[in-house]
Amino acid sequence: MSDQALTKEPLLEVIELKKYFPIRRGFFKRVVGQVKAVDNLSFFIREGETLGLVGESGCGKTTAGRSILRAIPPSSGKILFRDPTLGKVDVATLDQDQLIAVRRNMRMIFQDPYASLNPRMTLLDIVGAPLRAMKLASGKELEERVAEMLRRVGLRPEYMRRYPHAFSGGQRQRIGLARALAPNPKFIVCDEPVSALDVSVQAQILNLLQDLQVDLGLTYLFVAHDLSVVAHISDRVAVMYVGKMVELANTQELYTNPMHPYTEALMSAIPLPDPRKREKRVYLSGEVANPANPPSGCYFHPRCSYCVDICKSTEPAFEEVKPGHFVKCHRARELSLNGVAEILANR
Ligand code: SF4
Repeated sequence: MSDQALTKEPLLEVIELKKYFPIRRGFFKRVVGQVKAVDNLSFFIREGETLGLVGESGCGKTTAGRSILRAIPPSSGKILFRDPTLGKVDVATLDQDQLIAVRRNMRMIFQDPYASLNPRMTLLDIVGAPLRAMKLASGKELEERVAEMLRRVGLRPEYMRRYPHAFSGGQRQRIGLARALAPNPKFIVCDEPVSALDVSVQAQILNLLQDLQVDLGLTYLFVAHDLSVVAHISDRVAVMYVGKMVELANTQELYTNPMHPYTEALMSAIPLPDPRKREKRVYLSGEVANPANPPSGCYFHPRCSYCVDICKSTEPAFEEVKPGHFVKCHRARELSLNGVAEILANR
C-alpha cells in the first residue's frame, strides 16, 4: 500500500458484525442454541489496502467474508461501504435492488477453482455472466469486455469459446478473477484464493493480484489460513479465533512482535529453512473451541500455555496496546512472544 493510500478514508467499515446460526432440535425444530460463527467483529479497510484475515479452519473467517458481501445475511451489525454511485451505504440493510447495484463494486473470488466454474459454460459465458446480469454490456461490447478481462489476468482472448476443463488450476483461478473483475469493482473478498494451488502457481496468482491492485486501485479482504501467504500480500493482518478477532496490526509489526499467544502458535507452525529456529516451536494442543459452546473467559485458555486464573473466568477486551496494534489478551503487555520476521524478507 502506498503512503498516499494510508491517508485515505476507509472504503469498508465493519461494526459489531455477528453471524449466528441457530441449532434446531426436536419435532417442532425449536431453537436450542446458537453457533456463533462471527461474533462482534469490527474493523475497517482503507481504499487501496489489503487486509489479511487469518485463523484455523472453522474460526469464522470465510463466514465473515460472505456476511460482508451479504452472500449470507448477517445476524446484526453494520457493513458501511463507500459505493462510487450510491455513496456510503450500510450493506446489511440494503433492499434487493440496491444490493444488486452495490454488488457491482463488491465481488468475491473463491477457494476452489475447480468447483467455482460451471463446466458447461464457456469462458465467454462465465466472465460475461455478471455483465449480462447487471445489464452492463451485451453483444459485441460484452465480447470485447471479456477479451480485455482475459488479457488482464494473463489469458489469451482466443480462449473465450473454450470450457473450464481445458485449463489448469492456476488458469481456472485466473478465469475466476476475470469474472470478479468484469464489472470493474472497487472491493474484492479473496476467499483462500491460492490454497488449492501448487506453491509455484500460488506465487503467480499472488503477484497478479498485487499488479491488478496497483493498476485498478482495488481493495482486498484476503481470507487465508496460511500466514506466509498472508504476509506476502497484506498491509495489515487480523487474526480470528472462534468467531472473534484476537489481534490486528500492520504486517511488519504483527510478524515481528506478535502479542497474542494464538498468533505466536500460528506463526510457529510456518515451515522455516533454518533448523535452529524450529527448536523454538510452540505446539498448539487440543482442538479449536466449539462456537456453539465456547469455554468461559478467554476462548483460547484451554490451549494457551500462558493461561492464568483470570483467563478462565473473564473475557479479555480487544484493546489498542500499541498505536494500531490491537490485542485481546489479559497478558498482552507482559508477555514477550516470538514472531517470524524472516518470512517478511521475501515480500
Ligand atoms: Fe492466553 Fe490468558 Fe491471553 Fe487468553 S487471555 S491468550 S488464556 S494469556
